[in-house]
Amino acid sequence: MKLHCIDCGLPFEAEVSGSVNVREHPELKEKVLDGSLFMETCPHCGRVNLLGQALLYNDPDQKILMWLLPEENGTRNVEASIKAAIAGSDPALLEGYTTRIVRTAGDLMEKVKIFDSGLDDLVMELCKHVTKLELAGDEKDKARLQAISKAPFKFFRLDGPDNDIEFTYPLDGRMVGARVGFNVYEDCAGIVSRNPSMRPSDPFQVIDSVWVGRFIG
Ligand SMILES: [Zn+2]
Repeated sequence: MKLHCIDCGLPFEAEVSGSVNVREHPELKEKVLDGSLFMETCPHCGRVNLLGQALLYNDPDQKILMWLLPEENGTRNVEASIKAAIAGSDPALLEGYTTRIVRTAGDLMEKVKIFDSGLDDLVMELCKHVTKLELAGDEKDKARLQAISKAPFKFFRLDGPDNDIEFTYPLDGRMVGARVGFNVYEDCAGIVSRNPSMRPSDPFQVIDSVWVGRFIG
């Protein structure tokens, strides 16, 4: 695909992947996780350009299908035709699959990490919400409190002998971390299992803070 550098404006060719099957190409999963699949360096000036491509991420072993559909690319039509194609196909094809739409490469990377850790992304969204409430409860500064409640939390990793959950989020122009015990995640898993309507009934939903926000006060 021919791109124009956002910095120098000169054209260059970039190899843009539209789909990734991580069983056939495990090396592409690494490129998803380190972000290099979504970037190309301009050969003229060295500026790293974000590709902003739509991408189908398929992990047949973990039965995960995720569609990266950046909103800014006018992908609404793509999304509608994808959903129409799915609606018209045999539902057995998606049997046992976790299917998601994600809006940014960062969201895709995060979900890959969550599923690789054997965790549930819907429970994780609730866990982020609860973690924010805990942090906010300790915070006296009103401006910081607001910044924390608005910050996009990302699952970073499980850590330590008790599988503490580490999040990262931007605050005051830098990335900071938050850490909660695994019991917070387990409590959230309990809430989700007692409220099955929180689970998406249609395939390819966006599971994010907006999604869980509909179910909590
Ligand atoms: Zn350039």
